[in-house]
This record gives sequence, structure tokens and C-alpha cells, in this order.
Amino acid sequence: MSYAGIVVNNEALSMDRIFTYSVPENMRVSVGQRVKVSFGQGNKRIDGFVMRISEEAPEGVSRLKEIQSAYPETYFDEDQVEFIETLRKKYLASYLDVIKLLIPRGILSGMKYKTSEKLYYVKEAEGRYDKMQYRAILDHVKANQGKLIKADLSKAGFSVSSVNTLLKHGFLSVMSENDYRYNIEEYEAYKAKNLNEEQRYAVEKIKSAPGTYLLHGITGSGKTEVFLELIRQNIEKGYDSIVLLPEISLTPQMIERFKGRFGKDITIFHSRLSDGERYDEWHRVRNGKVKIAIGARSALFLPFRNLKLVVIDEEHESTYKSEMNPKYNAKEVAEHMMDKKAGQLVLASATPSVESFHRAEKNEIELITLHNRATSGVLPSMEIVDMRDELMSGNRSIFSRTLLGKMKDRLDKKEQIILFLNRRGFSTFVSCRSCGYVFKCENCDISMTHHRDNSLMCHQCGARKHLPKTCPACQSKYIKQFGTGTEKVEESVRKFFPDARVMRMDRDTTRQKNSYELMYNDFKNNECDILIGTQMISKGLDFKDVTLVGVLAADLSLNMPDYRASEKTFQLITQVAGRAGRGDKPGEVIIQSYSPDNFAITSAQSHNYKGFYKREVEMREALNNPPFSRLFYLVFTSEKEELLIKNIQSIGGVLRKHLTKYDNIILLGPSPCIISKIKNNYRWQVLIKGEIHDETALEIRNLIQDEMKSVYKDIKVSMDLNPNSMM
Ligand code: ADP
Ligand code: ZN
Ligand code: ZN
Repeated sequence: MSYAGIVVNNEALSMDRIFTYSVPENMRVSVGQRVKVSFGQGNKRIDGFVMRISEEAPEGVSRLKEIQSAYPETYFDEDQVEFIETLRKKYLASYLDVIKLLIPRGILSGMKYKTSEKLYYVKEAEGRYDKMQYRAILDHVKANQGKLIKADLSKAGFSVSSVNTLLKHGFLSVMSENDYRYNIEEYEAYKAKNLNEEQRYAVEKIKSAPGTYLLHGITGSGKTEVFLELIRQNIEKGYDSIVLLPEISLTPQMIERFKGRFGKDITIFHSRLSDGERYDEWHRVRNGKVKIAIGARSALFLPFRNLKLVVIDEEHESTYKSEMNPKYNAKEVAEHMMDKKAGQLVLASATPSVESFHRAEKNEIELITLHNRATSGVLPSMEIVDMRDELMSGNRSIFSRTLLGKMKDRLDKKEQIILFLNRRGFSTFVSCRSCGYVFKCENCDISMTHHRDNSLMCHQCGARKHLPKTCPACQSKYIKQFGTGTEKVEESVRKFFPDARVMRMDRDTTRQKNSYELMYNDFKNNECDILIGTQMISKGLDFKDVTLVGVLAADLSLNMPDYRASEKTFQLITQVAGRAGRGDKPGEVIIQSYSPDNFAITSAQSHNYKGFYKREVEMREALNNPPFSRLFYLVFTSEKEELLIKNIQSIGGVLRKHLTKYDNIILLGPSPCIISKIKNNYRWQVLIKGEIHDETALEIRNLIQDEMKSVYKDIKVSMDLNPNSMM
């Protein structure tokens, strides 16, 4: 008799464990297989996944239920069980959460292969079938061997009964085949480049030993060519590779390059695939038909057998951290995977995250730098415009006089312009337009948020103060909430330049499928003069006629209520500047700001990553922010505001008391979240900061779950370690 440990498909917290079932005599199951079991008092039939098999009965259990039936497929192997356990623990998730990463989406809702009955020609017509009507059908099928189904023939005017006759007597045959839903388009060949010395050194260094590498190279230094060469060498050895890109970088241009180099050995795996396409791609990988995956973070879990290389491009991007359960960090997971398989993880960026660069400084990972552009192009020239001066001279528009002048010049020359607004979600900070003063929390050094009752609040620690009538620094009355949107920019551009062709690219204008591609092509074909956009246009775009980029309000990201505000600002300016001057004509960038002396802005202006990093890492250390600490971010939500506030106060108290035993962990809050209500749900937060080990986090999670037992139906808790956003 054998026994199977099974995780059942039920989201409830109490179901997050391994249940033991006995395996019927005549059934064979293996680890990773999907099975059906009956569950609970009512013996409801439910799907489950086999986690382990043993020959010995578990102790203390008298009668076990039997597995009811087994599906033919397995979705993970024994090695991956350990992987599932690790992720579950590290990201405070459930078994089911993690298993769902490994199986193609759609499986649990019953998705199957799409199949069709393809016709094949077998032999020439003979005997009494040697007739015109049959010969015509046979010829047609022969010419399209394996490509037609019966319906195609009837559409082409052939008689279905004649087709059936030919099938019956063996002149034709059918074969049931899987239809791949994914469109396998062919791309123009993209020839390999002769790598320059820096690139060659990078490839050799990375190939020399397993481990994690940070590839730091300015935009256009040829990082992508390094990836392509690493992959090529991998394929030669029979190894598989994964390249992760932020969703917005999965541009047609990028895909063209990879497909053009490697043809159909690739799967492109991103969030716009349908469940059916995902299902098919998953199987193509599993069946060894694919050697390379390019995709968003979920591509990391594709079932490659011989994975030896993971590249994470634009590694500083926040999209590598999942905001849904399991709230995993793709960089950490990839490192864990490559550790196990003795492969290489390459983190690449023109503006590495402070965290990764810090690890390189400590020699935890190896730094490789590309100093020069791969082609002759030069970096664009950057100018900072002080918006306080504009106000002083009576200019209250969104555009400085400098920027307006240059826009007019480019329109006259028929060159293209990109206007960038670095707006991320929310901006509710208050600042002085005369001197640039920003209201910040004295405890946390992040900007305070303006509320309707004219108060200011720090959403990290809960501190409040009243908004004064005049600026504390210069006594000016021009203190206002800061905020401008892309629509307002568009309106303004049209007013100044009524004849210019203007396009706006943001979340609102790209909702429809393909709208991004359409706009992209319009701009590429010079059917537009000015492109206005948010983060979406900050990377990946490569247009040779763009010679002017305007960063309209660097302050928007600089004053996000987040300890990474400076880092994000430096990255955004650098990235968007990289859109200018990619062709023969040199590019120019205008950065408008009310705090033109801020080091994030001045370092971006002088293309000085190291200078930026040095200042930033000092601040992080002084305020004990990551990478010098870990953050554990807890959000409590409920439709019942009173109940929520009462409970969060008491949980806050319990946690604070519990944490006194650690002298290097502090608790901030409870306080309302910056977005204090979403869809009728009130939101409060607690932030725990310090030397939080995985064990400590688990302990806190268990404590909260215990405390919340009586109200868990009314209050939901989300827990995130080192979150990418705290709103
Ligand atoms: P990055 O990924 O660092 O931004 P890319 O790999 O996209 O840089 O390279 C920038 C440009 O330089 C591309 O047009 C690419 O084709 C070209 N390029 C890269 N490496 C070489 C090389 N060794 N020789 C010639 N051109 C190169
Ligand atoms: Zn002022
Ligand atoms: Zn504060």
C-alpha cells in the first residue's frame, strides 16, 4: 500500500497543509501529478497535487480516504517540491499559491489542448476510385499535406461524402494534432555583431563560473548583444535560457531582435497571452521545443529541463516583485534557482538598483561594467531648468521658456519630441512654488500627504500637522498641492502649437489590445511630432528622429512618499534621456524642476551613476532603510471602519509588545494607508523595519493570524516583505 501527501485546491487558510490519502492498488501516481480526491464531511470532489509518496502509513491515522482518480499529467518533480516549500516559507504564502506559479494558468479551470483532425494523403486513387472527383480531392490534400481539415475541403467545394469515402478506403487518413494557439511569426534575420572588447570580456567573465553577475552599462552600451551571445553559447551546449524584461520593455523592437537571431526556438511569455496561449507555450517548453523564453517575471517558472542562464534586464525595475500572493521577488527566486543548478544569473541595468550595487560593493555578486556606447552615438546633453525662476518672471505654464523655444525649433526642423511626465500613481505632496520647499515628515524624511481638512500627514508613521498659510522657508503664499496630468499637458501643447501632431501614451490611451503597437508605429513612421507620456515611454523606444526630450516635472517622482523617491527619479531621468539622439543627430534633454539642486537630478544630468549611488547609500544607512534593513509591510482592510480601527490599534499594541525582544526592529504606525479607501474597503497599515529574518517574519505572521481569528471574515490582511510600493 502506498500513501500520497496532497495539497488540495482550496484557498482557505486552514487548508494550507499536506493531507494524506491512500493510493488505490491499481493506480500509479507520481509527485507533481494532478489528482481528484474527495474532501471534507460532504466528500466534495476536489483537485489536488501530489507532493510526496511513501510506502508507510502515517502514524496515528486509522482510516484514510483513497485518491479517486488521477489526471495524466504531472506539473512538477521531486526537486521542485523543495522549491515550493522554500518559496512558501520565504514569501509567507500557501502551498497552493506557489503551485499555481508552476502550472499553466487555466489548468484548474479545465483548460485542454485545442486539437484538430488534420488530413493526410496516403496513396493514389486506384480501381473504382480512380475518378475525377476523387483524384481532385487527393491532389488537393497532397499539395497541402497535414494542413487541412474536412471543413476546409467542403469550403473549397469538395463533397464531404467523397472525402469520407476516401478516408474509409485508406486513400486519405486523419491525425489528431495539437494546434498551437500562439502565433509563430517569422522575423527578419538579425545578424550577430562582432563583440567589442568590453562585451567580449563580459561574456567570458560570466561564462567562467556559476554565480550572480551585475552587468552595469549605459544605455546603448551593447548589453543586449552580451545576452544574445551568452544564449547562443548556451544553446550550443544544449542548455536553456530565460530572459526577463519589464512588461513595458517587451516592445516589438526587442522581440524582433531575439526572434530575428534565434527564430522559433523562442517563446515570448507575457501577460497579454490568453490562457490558451499560455497553456500551449508551457507545453512547448515542457516538450523541449523551445530553448529560450523571453518574458515578464512569470516566465521564470516555465518547465525548462536544463536551465543554466537567467538574464534579468532593467533589474532595477519594480515589476520583478509580485504584488499578489506569493509576493515573490523574481531576482531572489532566480538566484535561488541558478544556485541549485550551478548556472548564471545576470542582472543588467544602466541604473542598477541601490540594493544590487550595494551587494556588488560587498562582493556578494560580481560587477561587470560596460563604459562605452557600442555605436558611435554620444550621450545626449542635459540641461536643468529652475522652475522657480519661471514663476518669478511671470510664466505660470507647464513649460519653461527654454523648453518652449526648443520645441518650436524642432517642429520647424521636422524632428520629433518626447515630453515625459514622471507620474507614478499618486502625488499629493505640497510644495512652495517660490522656493521649492516641500513639506516632509521630520521622522521619516518622506513627503507628507495633503488632506481635505487642510492637514498634512505622514502615512508611514502617522505624524500630522496643520498646513500653514505661508511657506516656512520663504514666507511666500504660493504653497499648493502639486499635480499635473498627461491630459493637461496635451491640452497645453495644443494651445501653444495648434498645428503640431500630438499623441498621448498612458494607461488610458493604451487600454485596447494593439493600441500600443499602433501608436508606436505612427510615431516611428513620423506621423506624429510630439509624443506625451508617462513611464510607459521611458524605455525600449528607439526612434532616430527624436532629438528633444522634455522631463516636465522631475519633482513628481522626487516627492513620492517612499524612501526610494530619489532612486526612482535618477532612474527615470536617465532612462527617458536615453530616448534622445539615437540616430545621427545629437539629442538634447531639458529637465524642469523646483528643486534643481537635488542630487538625484544633478547626478542624472552629469550621467554620474556612482556619484548618485554614493550619496543615496549614505542616506539609506543614516535612516536605516533597505539595503541596511528589511521592511515588513502589513495592510489591513475592511468595509467596517470602526471595527478595523479598533482591531488595528489592538494588533499594533500586541505587535509592539512582541517586538520589544528585538532591539533592532521598530514598528511604525498603525496609520491609514496613503490610499485610505479602495472600493469601499478602508485601509490601514503597519510598517515593521529592521533586521527582520525570515523566521521573524513567519513568527509575526503567525501571531497576527492568531490575533485575527475572531475577525478574519471581516478584516483582510496583506503581508509583504520588502514591498515595491507602499500606498
Ligand atoms: P543596450 O542593451 O546596452 O542598451 P544594445 O545591445 O541595444 O545596448 O546596443 C545598442 C546598439 O548598438 C544597438 O543598435 C546594437 O545593434 C548596437 N551594437 C551593440 N553591440 C555592437 C557591436 N559589438 N558592434 C556593432 N554594433 C553593436
Ligand atoms: Zn518657499
Ligand atoms: Zn513619518
